[in-house]
Amino acid sequence: MADRTAAVSGQHPFALILGCVDSRVAPELIFDQGIGDLMTVRSGGEVLDEAVLGSIAFGVIELGIPLVMVLGHQSCGAVSAAVRADETGEELPAHIGYLAERIRPAIDRERTGPARVDATITANVRHVRALLAGEPELAARVDAGRLAIVGARYELGSQVVHRVR
Ligand SMILES: [Zn+2]
Repeated sequence: MADRTAAVSGQHPFALILGCVDSRVAPELIFDQGIGDLMTVRSGGEVLDEAVLGSIAFGVIELGIPLVMVLGHQSCGAVSAAVRADETGEELPAHIGYLAERIRPAIDRERTGPARVDATITANVRHVRALLAGEPELAARVDAGRLAIVGARYELGSQVVHRVR
């Protein structure tokens, strides 16, 4: 409650987590953080679009957050759907196809089955991290030593988060 009262006067989150919408992967719970500690931006498969980029830019440029983490996770349904659609040509319903299109460049082409999905989850984290690192305003902050953009993966089974380099 004290945290919530203190947070009324402003926010100073120390990190921004770009993660998936999956209900099992809530960043505040995974990292045991409270109100005001993390800014979280979430989209299926942590894909980027203008709203996600604008939200990240708000956190980094307006609030001066020094750390952005792209957080993928084991058994990601969005990545699984993207791989399945790529393999079968299946048309995904409504706007889910938009997510799949953004994940497609990261699809692993060497493995098959569950191993392909798992490798794609990691490749997608690298892909999204690289796209963020290529954004001019973010890149300038990285160059100036004011921002780090890192990738990571959360394993549902072990509940461990590890870096993806
Ligand atoms: Zn997911």
